[in-house]
Amino acid sequence: METLAQKKSRAGLIIAELNNMYPEVRCELEHANAYQLLVATILSAQCTDKRINMVTPTLFDRYPMVNDMAQADRNDVIGYIRSTGFFNNKSTNILACCKDIVERFNGEVPGTLEELISLSGVGRKTANVVLNHIFHVPAIVVDTHVGRISRHLGLTQEKNPAKVEFALMKILPEEAWIPWNHQLIKHGRTVCIARRPQCGQCQLRALCSGFIQQLTVDKGQLTIENQDL
Ligand code: SF4
Repeated sequence: METLAQKKSRAGLIIAELNNMYPEVRCELEHANAYQLLVATILSAQCTDKRINMVTPTLFDRYPMVNDMAQADRNDVIGYIRSTGFFNNKSTNILACCKDIVERFNGEVPGTLEELISLSGVGRKTANVVLNHIFHVPAIVVDTHVGRISRHLGLTQEKNPAKVEFALMKILPEEAWIPWNHQLIKHGRTVCIARRPQCGQCQLRALCSGFIQQLTVDKGQLTIENQDL
């Protein structure tokens, strides 16, 4: 059984490797201010960043300020965001959120986790994205890639995103919190793919308990993968 100190030490090696593999860390959602990032992040649920970046320029041309969106006609908004999927929920959340910002925060996107998650339709993931990229407050954004790969790596067994976030906060140094999300998303798209992780080509495999389990479970895989180690 790995102790917390051992886990922290292994996490340090994983972070060093991730920094080598994915040195560039930036928000993929195009935005000019807090309002735009908040809306783009709400839209990004179950959708690709690429698609969101295709939709938001015209949406923000039509509704440039949070006050404009707070007074928007929902069906008109749906017309702009339809291709992002789940447009009924997303439009409801965006309008309610912007009304909250106008009524309770004088039209300014608030800058604390507690205030952000008090907004309609804003959960911890969206709030942490805004904290990271607008207010430069370290926070761990847990999406499906981050949860899945953090479990593969044996850093947590938790499935609930908030519990994954709390578990990782105990293990990762604060300076790694913002990059962790971006690096694991890139790793999840290219190497540690959900249904077919490419462990044989993964630079993290010597540090990954998911890989070690594969060695144990699948003896055929053991022979092949050991040649790579
Ligand atoms: S070794 Fe396999 S399971 Fe572990 S991070 Fe790499 S691809 Fe994912």
